[in-house]
Amino acid sequence: MTAERHAPVRPLLQHAEMSQFAVRSGELVVGGMPLTRLAARVGQTPFYAYDRGLLRSRVAELRSALPAAVKLHYAMKANPMPALVCFMATLVDGIDVASAGELQVALDAGANPQEISFAGPGKRDAELRQAVAAGILVNLESARELRPLAAASEELGLPARVAVRVNPDFELKGSGMKMGGGPKPFGVDAEAVPALMRDIAAAGLRFEGFHLFAGSQNLRAEAICEAQRLSYALAVRLAAEAPTPILTVNLGGGFGIPYFPGERRLDLAPIGDNLAALVERAARELPEAALVLELGRFLVGEAGIYVCRVIDSKTSRGERFVVTDGGMHHHLAASGNFGQVVRRNYPVGLGCQMTAAPNGLTTVTGPLCTPLDKLAEQAPLADVSVGELVVVFQSGAYGITASPQQFLSHPPSAEVLV
Ligand SMILES: *Cc1c(COP(=O)(O)O)cnc(C)c1O
Repeated sequence: MTAERHAPVRPLLQHAEMSQFAVRSGELVVGGMPLTRLAARVGQTPFYAYDRGLLRSRVAELRSALPAAVKLHYAMKANPMPALVCFMATLVDGIDVASAGELQVALDAGANPQEISFAGPGKRDAELRQAVAAGILVNLESARELRPLAAASEELGLPARVAVRVNPDFELKGSGMKMGGGPKPFGVDAEAVPALMRDIAAAGLRFEGFHLFAGSQNLRAEAICEAQRLSYALAVRLAAEAPTPILTVNLGGGFGIPYFPGERRLDLAPIGDNLAALVERAARELPEAALVLELGRFLVGEAGIYVCRVIDSKTSRGERFVVTDGGMHHHLAASGNFGQVVRRNYPVGLGCQMTAAPNGLTTVTGPLCTPLDKLAEQAPLADVSVGELVVVFQSGAYGITASPQQFLSHPPSAEVLV
């Protein structure tokens, strides 16, 4: 690994083309506006910008690839910016929240409570009570959640709407982050679900179905299809012991986007075919159930960029560094410190030199006094000057709210929807 650092070779693997954004006279265009003008409009760097047109076209692309009967939910932990959640609420069928804080944003965004679901381990009693009062669906992660839900239901005179998040007996292959299968803090082990369903019915709660989420950031369509088939089959098996007809089967998501060299965009066609077959089976086997997908990064990740400005440019023992005003404190994921095992570069570019040929390798860092603060390591870039705008692509998900903004007390990032 250390020998590799100094090898002056161009990486063999390329990033996927960031062709979702237009380029005009060499300058990146975001939300219809050239980047320098957008930076002036925002009034500061660093900032995140999310492109409404790209959000809309991503949802449209997905809708045309998937059967119309499949409901599309936005998992808002990927990007909880209130304006963005408002916009997404007009495009998707529902919002998945992971805390009472997110629930508040989803409700403010005008999302229909009937189509909001709440997953996450360690829901506090107060959060469960808020969920009952809001009339949203709670995905039970543990038998413990039953008692506070029943208490809130009785107190408020509203039966809690519940689904059971099932920890399946399989894993999502090729997934960046596994969240199901084996021992997990998420959900209820499949074998314990029948007893829990009996308890739900006995407590007088409204049982609506199942939630399965096998993992995240998967770029292999076949692996996603297999997880969906296995999840569906598990739901059918468990439905045989359910107290009431199944109204919803949330098959999870896990659709990935290409972040690193060599990764390519997910092929939606086989996923659409697979879901069409499952919709047909569900019409017979679970006639009252809607199939739901919950996607975060796939819906918003490619529509967002992070923009920072070069403060300094220097050469150290033959290696070129540019230091920017942005870094890991705003964009932990691009720095490689958010779940990556081996640090790899997000796609980066120079906002006003999008068509310039690379001239050697440049390491882009932030202003923090730690070697962890890298936005790109030895990236092929054109010559960079102080004052230029550096763009980190694929930044619409797990950006600012997944970053340690207080670390080293630098100014916060701005965030705009354009
Ligand atoms: C994080 C999470 C998601 C969203 O994952 P993405 O990789 O952003 O699509 C969806 N559902 C659950 C239960 C999650 O925990």
